[in-house]
Amino acid sequence: MTVYAQVALLRPSRHLDRLYTYKLPFSDLKEVSIGAKVRFNFNNRLEEGFIFSLDEERNFSGEIKPILEVLPEELWLTPELVEMIKWISEYYLCSITEALTLISYPEKIYQDVEVFCTVVDEKKLNEKIKKSKRLQNDLSVINLLKNKRGVVRTTATIKKLIEQGMLQISEKPLPNLPSIELSESQKQVYQQIKRDMLKNFVGLLHGITGSGKTEIYLKLAGDFLNRGKQVLFLLPEIGITTQMVDRVKKYFPDNTLVFHSRLSAREKFTVWRQVKKGSPVLVLGTRSAAFLPLQNLGLIILDEEHELSYKQEETPKYHVREVVYWRAKRLGIPLLLGTATPSMETYAAVISGLIKYYYLGKRYQNRPYPQVMIVDMFKEAKEGNTGIISRILQHKIYERLQKGEQVFLFLNRRGFAPVIMCRKCGYFYRCPDCDVSMTYHKEERNFQCHYCGKKIAFTSKCPACQELSLDLYGYGTQRVEEELKKLFPAKIFRVDYDTMRSKNSYDKILEAIKNKEADIIIGTQMLAKGFDFPDLTLVGVLNADQSLNLPDFRAGERSFNLLTQVVGRAGRGIVPGEVIIQTFNPENYIIQAVQKGNFQQYALKELSLRKQTGYPPFSRIFRLIIAGEDEQQVVEGANILVNLLKNASKFSSEIEIIGPAAAPFYKLKRNFRYHILLKTNKSSFAREVLKAGLREFKKCSLNYKLTLVLDLSPQIF
Ligand code: ADP
Ligand code: ZN
Repeated sequence: MTVYAQVALLRPSRHLDRLYTYKLPFSDLKEVSIGAKVRFNFNNRLEEGFIFSLDEERNFSGEIKPILEVLPEELWLTPELVEMIKWISEYYLCSITEALTLISYPEKIYQDVEVFCTVVDEKKLNEKIKKSKRLQNDLSVINLLKNKRGVVRTTATIKKLIEQGMLQISEKPLPNLPSIELSESQKQVYQQIKRDMLKNFVGLLHGITGSGKTEIYLKLAGDFLNRGKQVLFLLPEIGITTQMVDRVKKYFPDNTLVFHSRLSAREKFTVWRQVKKGSPVLVLGTRSAAFLPLQNLGLIILDEEHELSYKQEETPKYHVREVVYWRAKRLGIPLLLGTATPSMETYAAVISGLIKYYYLGKRYQNRPYPQVMIVDMFKEAKEGNTGIISRILQHKIYERLQKGEQVFLFLNRRGFAPVIMCRKCGYFYRCPDCDVSMTYHKEERNFQCHYCGKKIAFTSKCPACQELSLDLYGYGTQRVEEELKKLFPAKIFRVDYDTMRSKNSYDKILEAIKNKEADIIIGTQMLAKGFDFPDLTLVGVLNADQSLNLPDFRAGERSFNLLTQVVGRAGRGIVPGEVIIQTFNPENYIIQAVQKGNFQQYALKELSLRKQTGYPPFSRIFRLIIAGEDEQQVVEGANILVNLLKNASKFSSEIEIIGPAAAPFYKLKRNFRYHILLKTNKSSFAREVLKAGLREFKKCSLNYKLTLVLDLSPQIF
């Protein structure tokens, strides 16, 4: 009997995007399973791929070649991951090969990996160490001796000690239940969730900043680990700090694995191996960790569920919230979302009863929510102060510095001045490759495009009228830093993309702030979220309007979330916090709701606006971007495509096809960009329409040089 395998290629082929049929060189199905990694000939080249289905019947009429090699099992995907990839490719309309890029599968087996070791012969090990200077300096050996066990890399030294019978590799032990003392309100929420989790469960833990959501996650995680189950704990990229890792490792020292895209291939393999074995581990990871072969998964936690960085902006453009939903449903396990500012998608699902809701409205130890004061910058200007920092904020900064407390000033704009304009002819300095204004950077003395990174040496000569009359307008963090230095004799830190090039400096700066090496910190959103600086008592939002008026239906939601996070940085220690929000829109509903810390007031208003306009979460929007260097071609192509889509939809009222229109950021990196939106409540129908329209488009657009990008879960427009 012959067994046929359908395999997915790892490398994109010029041919059709599909699975290819091969036959197994043996008839015993036990030797492979779905997910197995294999080698075969494809177009006269040796290629690798994963088996996506196995069949005893031949369903392909051409010549069928044999699979040449089955690679070791540690390199295989699990059948669940195979299903996940198929779902991704259907849900986000990408190829299987593209979907496979989401998985950090290992290319090879690494020998030198981390294992869990126990000391079996302490006496002998002690003697050995006494005699060897080298062992005395080996940190992992010293740690093992101290703790009698631990996670170590299998270096040559460790291997030798294992061979000589002093150490032993063992299975990970079940961790102890963490000894977290929950507050009364935390305890209530914890017990409620624990009870509800027994049944089909998606929950939202809505807790204000500083309420102690993490303590609840860890307590729940402990319950699962202790029963030998795995826990996936996802954080946004920026959330995986040394602080957070230490906090989790404190409770689960032997059972915590950290996973993110900056790990080396060997480090990734270490995690891959252990989760695939089914060891009871908690994986603390960023969105890529959602694609690990977790063989014994019991609970998924998605912290900061509203975060935009959970959406991948490269193809396949998936949203990890949607992926973990699928995974939890597929496995029948609980999914817990958490945030201080729920996304409208999640909150609407709470209102309609699809998601269970838990609220923590008090900060830990009843620390008060900060006092928030709004400063009307129009009034300020009328009264004679046109500077960046209002008089009241100056006064408050002064007060806090006197007391030895810390101040955080938030401005989400790096560089010195964001607008460069000619005062003679009105010429507006844009990036030559993008439709984006350039920013003056004083330290580097150049103009920079924050989109493509282009740099142009500083000049005051206007390219249009040739006069020496270019002027700088507006302000970024560099200018604020300069102003502050004039006003206050204080230690000032600037934290933005320019001062934070490496991961290392990021952790260092957080430590330095904690150690009070800074009095005033001026920072962008890099510093707005999640951090805990107990002596930080005053927060100033320099320009609250910045993100309010963008042409995007989620602009309000993003502003509310960001401002709430910023406010949440104040007063996390013993001294109550205070916040000053500078704005030209003091009556705006978002600013007002941020002031009161009233999520509900904002959310109900936001949802009713969305409902009126039929935007998500009351519909789904699919977006197609058509881009190219020749604008004429882009417009023609986009018009052809829109007509094909309308035909494919048979002009059904279930789909609203909008556009083509110039996209926001209409020119980027020399490419002109137009977009088409499909707004619908019938997303499976809309997917069919998209597929059909694109298929037709491919046939008739061969002569155009266009790129087409598909986004089925667009978050930013
Ligand atoms: P959130 O994630 O909700 O903003 P955190 O979990 O970071 O809040 O908690 C805020 C601070 O309060 C942290 O420093 C945390 O260690 C402390 N905290 C919260 N709950 C407890 C608890 N039960 N026991 C000890 N410390 C706690
Ligand atoms: Zn540019």
